[in-house]
Amino acid sequence: MLRSLQPATSDMTVQALDDDPLTRRSFYEATVTRPPADAPLQGNAQVDVCVIGAGFAGLSAALDLRAKGFSVAVVDAHEPGWGASGRNGGQCLVGFANDDTIVAQLGEDAKRAWRMSVDAVSLVRERMSKYSIECDFTSGYLTVATHTKRIPDLREWMDTASKRFDYSHLTWVEDANDHIDTDHYLSGVHDSFSGHLHPLKYCLGLADAVRRSGASLYAHTPVTQIVEGAKPRIRTAHGDIECSFVVVAGNASIGRVLPKVHDRIAPIGSFIVATERMDPDRASSLVRDRAAVCDNNFFLDYYRVSADDRLLFGGRATTAFVDPNAIAPILRQRMLTVYPQLSDLKIEYAWGGFVDVTRNRAPDFGRIAPNIYYLQGFSGHGVALTGMAGRIVAEAIAGQASRFDLFTRIKHERFPGGEALRRPVLEIGFLYHRLREALGV
Ligand SMILES: Cc1cc2nc3c(=O)[nH]c(=O)nc-3n(C[C@H](O)[C@H](O)[C@H](O)COP(=O)(O)OP(=O)(O)OC[C@H]3O[C@@H](n4cnc5c(N)ncnc54)[C@H](O)[C@@H]3O)c2cc1C
Repeated sequence: MLRSLQPATSDMTVQALDDDPLTRRSFYEATVTRPPADAPLQGNAQVDVCVIGAGFAGLSAALDLRAKGFSVAVVDAHEPGWGASGRNGGQCLVGFANDDTIVAQLGEDAKRAWRMSVDAVSLVRERMSKYSIECDFTSGYLTVATHTKRIPDLREWMDTASKRFDYSHLTWVEDANDHIDTDHYLSGVHDSFSGHLHPLKYCLGLADAVRRSGASLYAHTPVTQIVEGAKPRIRTAHGDIECSFVVVAGNASIGRVLPKVHDRIAPIGSFIVATERMDPDRASSLVRDRAAVCDNNFFLDYYRVSADDRLLFGGRATTAFVDPNAIAPILRQRMLTVYPQLSDLKIEYAWGGFVDVTRNRAPDFGRIAPNIYYLQGFSGHGVALTGMAGRIVAEAIAGQASRFDLFTRIKHERFPGGEALRRPVLEIGFLYHRLREALGV
């Protein structure tokens, strides 16, 4: 299998996924009806704001910008929900991928940032209701420890969230087995406000709302260059868009279109398998109230029961471009480690995508010029936060930048090694963490 690995450079990601083995067997793609594709840009256009990327972040920004009266064009190299927003684990969570960074860097203001992450989950619920998006939202989320040494981390995290951030939806679970039908876990934290959803249904619902808002949506229109200036120009193969502001929300595949900051994120592959359907009672027996589950390891397992009674089990981080069919047996094995009772179930779907990870795993929002904003680095914790990112970038463009600028204070470092060496350098780091986890440290 190692021979099928190829480095996942940013350019590689865009090129490889045009013929997309990563989503060919996606459960999400198989369970939606996509509308006819939006037409590509042909010729030149002028708008107030051009948004690059029709994932959660770009679509969210577009909705709020339209609500504020800006004319908006959204361009995507593929179609809405093609990226991480249409492939992820669906876990819609409060907080950040690494709350410690937020606390260390923002001090007292960490509480403000954290409240925004809670509002981000409310925003998902609000938009589901406002735009009548049916996306199987289910409340409940469990973070669990597999190693004794990780239990204090979990406890500390819960105490910080409850006491310092006044988040009142957490309950300590002494024995995870009370909630999850496995003895694989020790203790855990239950969050009754976070939850999970069908991400592609949600994303297509947002795209539909964007079209209805009067914004233009151009599909199959890769942006090749952003020309800075008082009136930035967005260059594509068959036309330019001239605008007053740009929002870049291209995630891991944006690559060299954003040269000033693209090496502050690394594309890390993550994969998910879906079992065949189960009897509903059997599916419900796996996790109480069908909460989503994630462990607190560096290489984490995340999973949830779908509305149609499958187990969707994800994990297996890698920096390489790997065929999900090759990963499926490995993920199935991990799933059976947790739930040996599922050994009779076939895997019907397997897919993957790239997570835009920053070195400190805090989100990276900023400006590469006064009128060119970017949103990246959600680090695998973006289902809810992307919506808030879109909201606060729209506020900033409208002249209210205080919430956006809270995040621009977070310092980020570039990944070492440049394009050529980034992957080997990351793999060495991965090896170190795998070793620690194998040793239970
Ligand atoms: C397998 C997987 C599992 C995950 N699980 C979870 C989870 O359970 N919970 C959670 O909170 N987060 C999870 N995440 C992370 C979450 O999905 C992302 O943070 C979020 O979807 C990012 O949204 P986005 O809008 O920034 O990017 P995307 O959804 O990736 O959208 C970016 C868009 O930009 C377009 N684009 C890129 N370059 C160009 C260009 N040059 N020109 C035009 N368009 C361009 C792409 O075509 C794409 O449609 C997961 C991610 C993956 C991959």
